[in-house]
Amino acid sequence: MIRKLFKNLARLAPGRLSSKAMRRAKSLAHEPEIFKGSRLGIDRRLLSNAAARTVEELQKAGFKAYVVGGAVRDLLLGIRPKDFDVATNAEPEQVQKSFRRARIIGRRFRLVHVMFGPETIEVSTFRALQSDDIELDEHGRVLRDNVFGEQHEDATRRDFTVNALYYDPVSDQVLDYHHGVKDIKAKVLRMIGDPEHRYREDPVRMLRAVRLAAKLGFEIDRATRRPIREMADLIRNVPNARLFDEMLKLLHSGNSLEGLSQLRSEGLHHGCLPLLDLVFEHRDPRALDFVSRALKATDARIHDRKPVSPGFLFAALLWNLVNERWQQRHAQGEHLIPALNEAIDEVIETQLDALAIQRRYVSDMREIWLMQPRFEKRQTASVVRLMEHIRFRAAYDFMLLRAESGLCDPSLATWWTDYLDADSATRNTLITQANANRSRPTAGRRRRRRKPNGTTPSGPSDGPASSSGSDA
Ligand code: ATP
Ligand code: MG
Repeated sequence: MIRKLFKNLARLAPGRLSSKAMRRAKSLAHEPEIFKGSRLGIDRRLLSNAAARTVEELQKAGFKAYVVGGAVRDLLLGIRPKDFDVATNAEPEQVQKSFRRARIIGRRFRLVHVMFGPETIEVSTFRALQSDDIELDEHGRVLRDNVFGEQHEDATRRDFTVNALYYDPVSDQVLDYHHGVKDIKAKVLRMIGDPEHRYREDPVRMLRAVRLAAKLGFEIDRATRRPIREMADLIRNVPNARLFDEMLKLLHSGNSLEGLSQLRSEGLHHGCLPLLDLVFEHRDPRALDFVSRALKATDARIHDRKPVSPGFLFAALLWNLVNERWQQRHAQGEHLIPALNEAIDEVIETQLDALAIQRRYVSDMREIWLMQPRFEKRQTASVVRLMEHIRFRAAYDFMLLRAESGLCDPSLATWWTDYLDADSATRNTLITQANANRSRPTAGRRRRRRKPNGTTPSGPSDGPASSSGSDA
């Protein structure tokens, strides 16, 4: 409102305002709207003690300090924030001195990590809006900037209006520079400033728009959304590690299927998750059903605040591709396990670059996939060995999802679930039954595939295109 007033004053009486009045009006234009946190429904129990203490200590040392960004947005929405950021006018060295356990990190943006027990609060100094010292790449992407400024500048540098709110838990005040409170109420994600310019500065903001809209159930404002399709390719200039982090956040948003389909409909996936085309356009509806189930199971775990394994998630996203190649190779006469190994290598090789997926997750994925045919072997020794595997639980959950979407025999899932619940006598009975069933040919079962030379493939009897109805 004050900003509007200033604009109107300037328009109505150009040249009539003294420079002092002009300065005053200008500084007023930078004043935020102030709300009482409790009146906006902030539940103090959702605020971490560590964040509150960080703010208090900085204020005691004579600095301004606020909880800022996504944490305030989430508090206003009644969501428990997953991390807390604090913004202050203290410079990194001054912040560090105010705490017993604090360290300065980062090059692109120098920040301080303040540690309280297991919690880390990220403290950043208000950043200036414009500076000659900001380092850009040839596409206009900001590479480095550590020029400190005023709080209103810091607010304007943030991405969305709902992310530019400052909360002081000591005075219970919310400072709103860009009508973020209004946008939270309307559930709108609106870029601060000119969206095109802001995407050029940092193309990750396009991914953040999609991710936050999915996470919060917000609409992306029209002007904020419009340039994304055209500018999507800029994603390719972002370092892989940052893209991967953003993809993980999207998969952990609690609404991952919606997030991924929006990512694709905006054309953003080409630069960071091209395999989505294969997932969403698979000719076999069971393939999409399988991925949807995996993502929904992930969302449910996020809502229950349970841990989610990135290896499992990527294993699920890529399974249809692996499975298809596995079947092709097996159909051409390759043995079951080598065929699976080859299929995995092929998929990892072709997808790894674009995905920028970290090696440790790749090895989780490989293990989960390689364990799948082992669920078919139900002799005591192999069952025990499989259960001892460190990744057994993930592989078992994965197999259950395959069964639920009809990609493998549902009775296999039932058998394993019964087995895990059973006492040792019942386990023996289950093993006997499983092997008795296997040796008895069942009417309607498909005959085992013959290798071109007429021999049956070795390895576990139930292959990808075999009698047990595995992934077809
Ligand atoms: P999440 O719920 O995933 O943590 P968030 O909005 O808090 O969402 P963070 O990555 O924790 O995301 O960022 C904290 C705050 O920093 C944001 O709310 C926003 O104010 C600011 N911010 C983060 N990334 C950007 C960016 N690329 N451009 C501008 N501001 C950003
Ligand atoms: Mg955050």
